[in-house]
Amino acid sequence: MQHRTSRSRTRHRRAHWKASAPALARCTNPACGKPTPPHRVCAHCGFYRGREALSPLDGDR
Ligand SMILES: [Zn+2]
Repeated sequence: MQHRTSRSRTRHRRAHWKASAPALARCTNPACGKPTPPHRVCAHCGFYRGREALSPLDGDR
């Protein structure tokens, strides 16, 4: 037979379910250096791995 999970147990279990801080690396562009998610093109300057420029304004591609 299984026991009913008490409200306390349920809440204790859910207390460990936390949102983690977003992973942020530095932008590879030395002129920018803004925190940006790793393996993403920088949203501020469009740089990825030092080169591969992509304008943050032109989103039609
Ligand atoms: Zn940047």
